[in-house]
Amino acid sequence: MKRLTEQYNGEWVTEHAEEMDYFLIKGKAIDRLAAYEDSELTPEQVATLKAENEMLKSLTSDIPLERLEEICKAEKENRLITLPKCPQCGLVNAWSIGKKYCDRCGANLNGCDV
Ligand SMILES: [Zn+2]
Repeated sequence: MKRLTEQYNGEWVTEHAEEMDYFLIKGKAIDRLAAYEDSELTPEQVATLKAENEMLKSLTSDIPLERLEEICKAEKENRLITLPKCPQCGLVNAWSIGKKYCDRCGANLNGCDV
């Protein structure tokens, strides 16, 4: 996409042509347009990034950055597993071979997907 702004004497400006006369427009609106153009993103790309960012923030809000880095590194190295939990009370690792009921709440574990 062609830029609408350019630097002129240290300021962001845009050209405006009116019949045979050219003049430059500058000001806060042009500065904001220039900042947007610096992103090199379309409005649709900005909207997509904003939605993705909000989803990531909601998914990771309680997890410290260092822990997220550790989890992502483990995933990339195929070292990440998730422990099963009881679908009723949430007890982690409530499942084991031959176990039919949750130790904490007594929920029937047969036939439940983890
Ligand atoms: Zn349970």
